[in-house]
Amino acid sequence: MIEAKAYAAQSPTTDLAPWNFERREVGPHDVQIEILYCGVCHSDLHQIKNDWFPGIFPMVPGHEIVGRVIKTGNHVKKFKTNDLAGVGCLVDSCQECENCKQGLEQYCLEGNTQTYNSLDRSGIPTYGGYSSTIVVREEFVLSISPKLDLAATAPLLCAGITTYSPLRFWKVGKGHKLAILGLGGLGHMGVKWGVAFGADVTVLSTSPSKEKAAKELGAHHFVVTSDEKQLNAVKGSFDFILDTVSAEHDMNMYLSLLKTNGTHICVGAPPKPMEIAAFSLLGGRKSVAGSGIGGIPETQEMLDFCAEHNIVSDIEVIDIKNITASYARMVKGDVRYRFVIDMATL
Ligand code: NAP
Ligand code: ZN
Repeated sequence: MIEAKAYAAQSPTTDLAPWNFERREVGPHDVQIEILYCGVCHSDLHQIKNDWFPGIFPMVPGHEIVGRVIKTGNHVKKFKTNDLAGVGCLVDSCQECENCKQGLEQYCLEGNTQTYNSLDRSGIPTYGGYSSTIVVREEFVLSISPKLDLAATAPLLCAGITTYSPLRFWKVGKGHKLAILGLGGLGHMGVKWGVAFGADVTVLSTSPSKEKAAKELGAHHFVVTSDEKQLNAVKGSFDFILDTVSAEHDMNMYLSLLKTNGTHICVGAPPKPMEIAAFSLLGGRKSVAGSGIGGIPETQEMLDFCAEHNIVSDIEVIDIKNITASYARMVKGDVRYRFVIDMATL
Protein backbone atom coordinates (compact mmCIF):
# COMPACT_ATOMS: atom_id res chain seq x y z
CA MET A 1 0.00 0.00 0.00
CA ILE A 2 1.01 3.64 -0.51
CA GLU A 3 1.24 5.94 2.50
CA ALA A 4 -0.64 9.22 2.02
CA LYS A 5 -0.82 12.34 4.16
CA ALA A 6 -4.06 14.31 4.16
CA TYR A 7 -6.47 16.66 5.88
CA ALA A 8 -9.71 14.90 6.82
CA ALA A 9 -12.96 15.56 8.62
CA GLN A 10 -13.57 12.80 11.17
CA SER A 11 -17.29 13.68 11.44
CA PRO A 12 -19.72 16.33 10.13
CA THR A 13 -19.20 18.35 13.31
CA THR A 14 -15.39 18.44 13.41
CA ASP A 15 -12.99 20.67 11.48
CA LEU A 16 -10.53 19.25 8.99
CA ALA A 17 -7.28 18.08 10.61
CA PRO A 18 -4.17 16.11 9.60
CA TRP A 19 -4.79 12.40 8.96
CA ASN A 20 -2.69 9.61 7.45
CA PHE A 21 -4.12 6.77 5.38
CA GLU A 22 -3.19 4.28 2.64
CA ARG A 23 -3.88 4.35 -1.09
CA ARG A 24 -3.98 1.19 -3.21
CA GLU A 25 -0.83 0.06 -5.00
CA VAL A 26 -0.50 1.19 -8.62
CA GLY A 27 -2.27 -1.43 -10.76
CA PRO A 28 -1.54 -2.15 -14.44
CA HIS A 29 -4.03 0.53 -15.60
CA ASP A 30 -3.33 3.07 -12.84
CA VAL A 31 -1.51 6.37 -12.68
CA GLN A 32 -0.06 7.68 -9.40
CA ILE A 33 0.04 11.45 -9.08
CA GLU A 34 1.92 13.60 -6.60
CA ILE A 35 -0.69 16.25 -5.82
CA LEU A 36 0.72 19.78 -6.12
CA TYR A 37 -2.46 21.88 -5.89
CA CYS A 38 -6.09 21.22 -5.04
CA GLY A 39 -8.99 23.65 -5.51
CA VAL A 40 -11.58 24.25 -2.78
CA CYS A 41 -15.12 23.72 -4.12
CA HIS A 42 -18.29 24.65 -2.22
CA SER A 43 -19.26 20.97 -2.69
CA ASP A 44 -16.37 20.08 -0.33
CA LEU A 45 -18.06 22.05 2.42
CA HIS A 46 -21.57 20.73 1.57
CA GLN A 47 -20.22 17.18 1.87
CA ILE A 48 -18.17 17.43 5.07
CA LYS A 49 -21.25 19.03 6.68
CA ASN A 50 -23.64 16.27 5.42
CA ASP A 51 -25.68 18.99 3.63
CA TRP A 52 -26.83 16.59 0.89
CA PHE A 53 -26.71 13.07 2.40
CA PRO A 54 -24.91 11.24 5.21
CA GLY A 55 -21.26 11.13 4.17
CA ILE A 56 -18.52 8.52 4.58
CA PHE A 57 -16.12 9.51 7.39
CA PRO A 58 -13.23 10.11 7.79
CA MET A 59 -13.64 12.26 4.67
CA VAL A 60 -10.77 13.75 2.66
CA PRO A 61 -12.39 16.31 0.33
CA GLY A 62 -10.96 17.74 -2.89
CA HIS A 63 -11.88 17.12 -6.53
CA GLU A 64 -9.91 19.82 -8.31
CA ILE A 65 -6.60 18.00 -8.36
CA VAL A 66 -3.45 18.80 -10.35
CA GLY A 67 0.03 17.40 -10.02
CA ARG A 68 2.81 15.36 -11.53
CA VAL A 69 2.77 11.70 -12.52
CA ILE A 70 5.20 9.74 -10.33
CA LYS A 71 4.35 6.16 -11.34
CA THR A 72 2.40 4.38 -14.06
CA GLY A 73 1.13 0.79 -14.42
CA ASN A 74 2.44 -1.51 -17.16
CA HIS A 75 -0.58 -1.03 -19.44
CA VAL A 76 -0.80 2.77 -19.15
CA LYS A 77 -0.42 4.40 -22.56
CA LYS A 78 -1.35 8.08 -22.21
CA PHE A 79 0.94 9.08 -19.31
CA LYS A 80 4.56 8.79 -18.30
CA THR A 81 6.52 9.86 -15.22
CA ASN A 82 6.81 13.64 -14.81
CA ASP A 83 3.79 14.47 -16.99
CA LEU A 84 1.37 17.07 -15.60
CA ALA A 85 -1.98 15.52 -14.84
CA GLY A 86 -5.37 16.35 -13.37
CA VAL A 87 -8.25 14.55 -11.67
CA GLY A 88 -11.73 16.01 -11.29
CA CYS A 89 -14.87 14.71 -9.59
CA LEU A 90 -14.83 11.22 -11.14
CA VAL A 91 -12.40 8.32 -10.68
CA ASP A 92 -14.41 5.45 -12.17
CA SER A 93 -17.63 4.33 -13.87
CA CYS A 94 -18.86 1.14 -15.58
CA GLN A 95 -17.56 2.36 -18.98
CA GLU A 96 -20.07 0.09 -20.73
CA CYS A 97 -23.49 1.68 -20.38
CA GLU A 98 -25.10 3.90 -22.98
CA ASN A 99 -24.02 7.07 -21.15
CA CYS A 100 -20.43 6.00 -20.48
CA LYS A 101 -20.04 5.01 -24.15
CA GLN A 102 -20.99 8.58 -25.09
CA GLY A 103 -18.41 10.02 -22.69
CA LEU A 104 -21.05 10.96 -20.14
CA GLU A 105 -19.44 9.07 -17.26
CA GLN A 106 -20.99 11.52 -14.79
CA TYR A 107 -24.36 10.00 -15.71
CA CYS A 108 -23.17 6.34 -15.63
CA LEU A 109 -26.28 4.19 -15.37
CA GLU A 110 -24.59 1.95 -12.79
CA GLY A 111 -23.55 5.00 -10.78
CA ASN A 112 -20.15 6.65 -11.11
CA THR A 113 -17.40 6.59 -8.48
CA GLN A 114 -16.68 10.07 -7.19
CA THR A 115 -13.21 11.17 -6.17
CA TYR A 116 -14.17 11.25 -2.49
CA ASN A 117 -17.15 10.45 -0.27
CA SER A 118 -17.94 7.52 -2.55
CA LEU A 119 -17.34 3.76 -2.58
CA ASP A 120 -15.21 2.39 -5.38
CA ARG A 121 -16.36 -0.62 -7.40
CA SER A 122 -14.86 -2.97 -4.79
CA GLY A 123 -16.65 -1.17 -1.96
CA ILE A 124 -13.67 0.77 -0.57
CA PRO A 125 -14.16 4.48 0.31
CA THR A 126 -12.49 7.01 -1.97
CA TYR A 127 -10.41 9.89 -0.61
CA GLY A 128 -9.91 13.18 -2.40
CA GLY A 129 -7.27 15.73 -3.21
CA TYR A 130 -6.51 17.40 0.12
CA SER A 131 -3.76 14.78 0.23
CA SER A 132 -0.20 14.14 -0.86
CA THR A 133 -0.87 11.58 -3.60
CA ILE A 134 -3.66 9.77 -5.48
CA VAL A 135 -3.91 6.59 -7.57
CA VAL A 136 -6.46 6.70 -10.41
CA ARG A 137 -7.13 4.51 -13.42
CA GLU A 138 -5.76 6.03 -16.59
CA GLU A 139 -9.12 6.68 -18.27
CA PHE A 140 -10.05 9.17 -15.54
CA VAL A 141 -6.80 11.14 -15.58
CA LEU A 142 -6.66 14.35 -17.63
CA SER A 143 -3.67 15.80 -19.48
CA ILE A 144 -2.66 19.33 -18.57
CA SER A 145 -0.69 21.63 -20.83
CA PRO A 146 2.56 23.02 -19.35
CA LYS A 147 1.51 26.34 -20.98
CA LEU A 148 -1.11 26.89 -18.25
CA ASP A 149 -0.42 28.19 -14.74
CA LEU A 150 -0.75 24.94 -12.80
CA ALA A 151 -2.33 26.23 -9.58
CA ALA A 152 -4.90 28.26 -11.55
CA THR A 153 -5.71 25.18 -13.66
CA ALA A 154 -6.91 23.13 -10.66
CA PRO A 155 -10.41 24.74 -10.46
CA LEU A 156 -11.04 23.90 -14.12
CA LEU A 157 -11.42 20.24 -13.06
CA CYS A 158 -14.76 21.02 -11.35
CA ALA A 159 -15.78 24.70 -11.47
CA GLY A 160 -14.55 24.89 -15.06
CA ILE A 161 -16.18 21.80 -16.54
CA THR A 162 -19.43 22.24 -14.56
CA THR A 163 -20.04 25.59 -16.25
CA TYR A 164 -18.47 24.75 -19.64
CA SER A 165 -20.57 21.63 -20.19
CA PRO A 166 -24.08 23.17 -19.97
CA LEU A 167 -23.11 26.21 -22.04
CA ARG A 168 -21.84 23.84 -24.75
CA PHE A 169 -24.89 21.53 -24.45
CA TRP A 170 -27.35 24.43 -24.88
CA LYS A 171 -25.06 25.95 -27.56
CA VAL A 172 -24.90 29.30 -25.78
CA GLY A 173 -23.04 31.90 -27.84
CA LYS A 174 -23.42 34.82 -30.22
CA GLY A 175 -26.86 36.43 -30.14
CA HIS A 176 -27.72 35.03 -26.69
CA LYS A 177 -28.22 37.01 -23.53
CA LEU A 178 -26.71 34.92 -20.75
CA ALA A 179 -27.03 35.66 -17.05
CA ILE A 180 -24.60 34.15 -14.58
CA LEU A 181 -26.31 33.92 -11.22
CA GLY A 182 -23.78 34.05 -8.34
CA LEU A 183 -20.20 35.18 -8.84
CA GLY A 184 -18.20 32.54 -6.95
CA GLY A 185 -15.93 29.73 -8.11
CA LEU A 186 -18.38 28.34 -10.68
CA GLY A 187 -19.86 31.72 -11.59
CA HIS A 188 -16.57 33.38 -12.50
CA MET A 189 -15.77 30.52 -14.88
CA GLY A 190 -19.29 30.84 -16.33
CA VAL A 191 -18.49 34.48 -17.14
CA LYS A 192 -15.23 33.52 -18.86
CA TRP A 193 -16.92 30.86 -21.01
CA GLY A 194 -19.89 33.08 -21.86
CA VAL A 195 -17.54 35.81 -23.06
CA ALA A 196 -15.31 33.33 -24.95
CA PHE A 197 -18.37 31.83 -26.71
CA GLY A 198 -19.60 35.28 -27.80
CA ALA A 199 -22.69 35.70 -25.57
CA ASP A 200 -23.81 38.98 -24.01
CA VAL A 201 -23.03 38.27 -20.34
CA THR A 202 -24.74 39.74 -17.27
CA VAL A 203 -23.73 38.87 -13.71
CA LEU A 204 -26.62 38.68 -11.23
CA SER A 205 -25.07 39.11 -7.79
CA THR A 206 -25.96 39.77 -4.18
CA SER A 207 -22.58 41.50 -3.73
CA PRO A 208 -22.35 45.10 -5.03
CA SER A 209 -18.61 45.01 -4.28
CA LYS A 210 -18.04 42.47 -7.08
CA GLU A 211 -19.07 44.79 -9.95
CA LYS A 212 -15.60 46.02 -10.91
CA ALA A 213 -14.11 42.53 -10.79
CA ALA A 214 -17.02 41.11 -12.81
CA LYS A 215 -16.35 43.62 -15.58
CA GLU A 216 -12.64 42.78 -15.44
CA LEU A 217 -13.60 39.13 -16.00
CA GLY A 218 -15.32 40.29 -19.18
CA ALA A 219 -18.96 40.55 -18.06
CA HIS A 220 -20.84 43.16 -20.10
CA HIS A 221 -23.40 44.03 -17.40
CA PHE A 222 -23.74 43.69 -13.64
CA VAL A 223 -27.01 43.61 -11.70
CA VAL A 224 -27.27 43.80 -7.91
CA THR A 225 -30.22 41.52 -7.19
CA SER A 226 -31.28 43.35 -4.01
CA ASP A 227 -31.78 46.54 -6.03
CA GLU A 228 -35.40 46.56 -7.25
CA LYS A 229 -34.72 49.14 -9.97
CA GLN A 230 -31.78 47.24 -11.47
CA LEU A 231 -33.77 44.01 -11.34
CA ASN A 232 -36.86 45.48 -13.03
CA ALA A 233 -34.68 46.72 -15.85
CA VAL A 234 -33.71 43.13 -16.78
CA LYS A 235 -37.14 41.46 -16.38
CA GLY A 236 -37.90 39.15 -19.32
CA SER A 237 -34.50 39.74 -20.92
CA PHE A 238 -32.35 36.58 -20.71
CA ASP A 239 -32.22 33.54 -23.01
CA PHE A 240 -30.36 31.58 -20.32
CA ILE A 241 -29.65 31.88 -16.63
CA LEU A 242 -26.78 29.73 -15.35
CA ASP A 243 -27.60 29.35 -11.65
CA THR A 244 -24.50 28.67 -9.52
CA VAL A 245 -26.00 29.60 -6.15
CA SER A 246 -25.10 27.32 -3.23
CA ALA A 247 -27.94 28.37 -0.88
CA GLU A 248 -31.73 28.72 -1.00
CA HIS A 249 -32.99 31.46 -3.33
CA ASP A 250 -36.22 32.68 -4.91
CA MET A 251 -36.50 30.69 -8.16
CA ASN A 252 -39.77 32.37 -9.16
CA MET A 253 -38.17 35.79 -9.03
CA TYR A 254 -35.24 34.67 -11.19
CA LEU A 255 -37.57 32.90 -13.68
CA SER A 256 -39.26 36.27 -14.25
CA LEU A 257 -35.97 37.51 -15.71
CA LEU A 258 -36.10 34.96 -18.57
CA LYS A 259 -37.40 35.74 -22.06
CA THR A 260 -40.18 33.64 -23.58
CA ASN A 261 -38.70 30.14 -24.21
CA GLY A 262 -35.82 30.94 -21.85
CA THR A 263 -33.96 28.27 -19.84
CA HIS A 264 -32.84 28.41 -16.22
CA ILE A 265 -29.95 25.95 -15.81
CA CYS A 266 -29.26 24.80 -12.25
CA VAL A 267 -25.68 23.83 -11.49
CA GLY A 268 -25.59 25.11 -7.91
CA ALA A 269 -26.78 22.49 -5.42
CA PRO A 270 -28.49 24.08 -2.39
CA PRO A 271 -29.16 21.59 0.42
CA LYS A 272 -32.95 22.16 0.48
CA PRO A 273 -35.48 21.83 -2.40
CA MET A 274 -36.83 25.13 -3.73
CA GLU A 275 -40.42 25.97 -4.71
CA ILE A 276 -41.34 26.72 -8.32
CA ALA A 277 -44.85 27.94 -9.19
CA ALA A 278 -46.25 26.46 -12.42
CA PHE A 279 -47.20 30.00 -13.41
CA SER A 280 -43.53 31.02 -13.37
CA LEU A 281 -42.99 28.58 -16.26
CA LEU A 282 -46.17 28.41 -18.30
CA GLY A 283 -46.53 32.14 -18.85
CA GLY A 284 -43.51 32.22 -21.16
CA ARG A 285 -42.97 28.54 -22.02
CA LYS A 286 -39.90 28.57 -19.77
CA SER A 287 -37.71 25.62 -18.78
CA VAL A 288 -35.79 24.73 -15.66
CA ALA A 289 -32.89 22.38 -16.34
CA GLY A 290 -29.87 21.01 -14.55
CA SER A 291 -26.37 19.81 -15.39
CA GLY A 292 -23.84 17.77 -13.42
CA ILE A 293 -20.08 18.34 -13.86
CA GLY A 294 -19.01 16.91 -17.27
CA GLY A 295 -17.69 13.69 -18.77
CA ILE A 296 -14.03 12.85 -19.28
CA PRO A 297 -13.79 13.60 -23.05
CA GLU A 298 -15.47 16.98 -22.58
CA THR A 299 -13.23 17.80 -19.61
CA GLN A 300 -10.18 17.15 -21.81
CA GLU A 301 -11.75 19.24 -24.60
CA MET A 302 -12.21 22.11 -22.10
CA LEU A 303 -8.61 21.84 -20.83
CA ASP A 304 -7.34 21.91 -24.44
CA PHE A 305 -9.59 24.91 -25.18
CA CYS A 306 -8.03 26.64 -22.14
CA ALA A 307 -4.49 25.92 -23.34
CA GLU A 308 -5.39 27.34 -26.76
CA HIS A 309 -7.14 30.46 -25.43
CA ASN A 310 -5.03 30.91 -22.29
CA ILE A 311 -7.96 30.60 -19.88
CA VAL A 312 -7.47 29.67 -16.22
CA SER A 313 -9.27 30.47 -12.96
CA ASP A 314 -8.68 33.53 -10.79
CA ILE A 315 -7.38 32.10 -7.56
CA GLU A 316 -6.07 32.78 -4.07
CA VAL A 317 -3.48 30.19 -3.03
CA ILE A 318 -3.79 29.08 0.60
CA ASP A 319 -1.90 27.09 3.20
CA ILE A 320 -3.85 23.95 4.10
CA LYS A 321 -3.70 24.99 7.77
CA ASN A 322 -6.11 27.82 6.87
CA ILE A 323 -8.74 25.58 5.28
CA THR A 324 -11.44 26.09 7.95
CA ALA A 325 -11.03 29.88 7.84
CA SER A 326 -11.15 29.72 4.04
CA TYR A 327 -14.46 27.81 4.14
CA ALA A 328 -15.88 30.57 6.36
CA ARG A 329 -14.75 33.19 3.85
CA MET A 330 -16.25 31.19 0.96
CA VAL A 331 -19.63 31.06 2.72
CA LYS A 332 -19.53 34.87 3.05
CA GLY A 333 -18.72 35.16 -0.68
CA ASP A 334 -15.30 36.57 0.23
CA VAL A 335 -13.11 34.82 -2.33
CA ARG A 336 -11.84 36.05 -5.73
CA TYR A 337 -12.82 33.48 -7.02
CA ARG A 338 -11.40 30.17 -5.93
CA PHE A 339 -9.17 29.07 -3.08
CA VAL A 340 -6.48 26.64 -4.16
CA ILE A 341 -4.45 24.72 -1.60
CA ASP A 342 -0.70 24.62 -2.12
CA MET A 343 -0.13 20.98 -1.19
CA ALA A 344 3.50 21.70 -0.31
CA THR A 345 2.02 23.15 2.92
CA LEU A 346 0.63 19.75 3.94
P1 NAP B 1 -19.12 29.64 -4.18
O1 NAP B 1 -17.75 29.96 -4.65
O2 NAP B 1 -19.41 29.75 -2.73
O3 NAP B 1 -20.13 30.58 -5.02
C1 NAP B 1 -21.50 30.64 -4.80
C2 NAP B 1 -21.97 32.09 -5.05
O4 NAP B 1 -23.39 32.09 -4.95
C3 NAP B 1 -21.53 33.09 -4.00
O5 NAP B 1 -20.25 33.62 -4.26
C4 NAP B 1 -22.60 34.17 -4.11
O6 NAP B 1 -22.32 35.03 -5.23
C5 NAP B 1 -23.85 33.37 -4.49
N1 NAP B 1 -24.72 33.15 -3.33
C6 NAP B 1 -24.41 32.53 -2.15
N2 NAP B 1 -25.48 32.47 -1.35
C7 NAP B 1 -26.50 33.08 -2.03
C8 NAP B 1 -27.88 33.31 -1.75
N3 NAP B 1 -28.43 32.92 -0.58
N4 NAP B 1 -28.64 33.93 -2.69
C9 NAP B 1 -28.11 34.31 -3.87
N5 NAP B 1 -26.80 34.12 -4.18
C10 NAP B 1 -26.03 33.51 -3.27
O7 NAP B 1 -19.53 28.16 -4.58
P2 NAP B 1 -19.08 27.29 -5.86
O8 NAP B 1 -17.91 26.45 -5.49
O9 NAP B 1 -19.05 28.15 -7.05
O10 NAP B 1 -20.31 26.26 -5.94
C11 NAP B 1 -21.62 26.74 -6.17
C12 NAP B 1 -22.64 25.63 -6.04
O11 NAP B 1 -22.48 24.71 -7.12
C13 NAP B 1 -22.50 24.79 -4.77
O12 NAP B 1 -23.80 24.45 -4.30
C14 NAP B 1 -21.79 23.54 -5.26
O13 NAP B 1 -22.00 22.41 -4.45
C15 NAP B 1 -22.43 23.38 -6.61
N6 NAP B 1 -21.67 22.54 -7.57
C16 NAP B 1 -22.40 21.81 -8.45
C17 NAP B 1 -21.74 21.05 -9.40
C18 NAP B 1 -22.53 20.30 -10.43
O14 NAP B 1 -22.05 19.28 -10.92
N7 NAP B 1 -23.69 20.76 -10.84
C19 NAP B 1 -20.35 21.04 -9.44
C20 NAP B 1 -19.65 21.83 -8.56
C21 NAP B 1 -20.31 22.59 -7.62
P3 NAP B 1 -22.64 36.63 -5.20
O15 NAP B 1 -21.77 37.17 -4.10
O16 NAP B 1 -22.25 37.08 -6.55
O17 NAP B 1 -24.11 36.77 -4.93
ZN1 ZN C 1 -16.69 20.86 -7.16
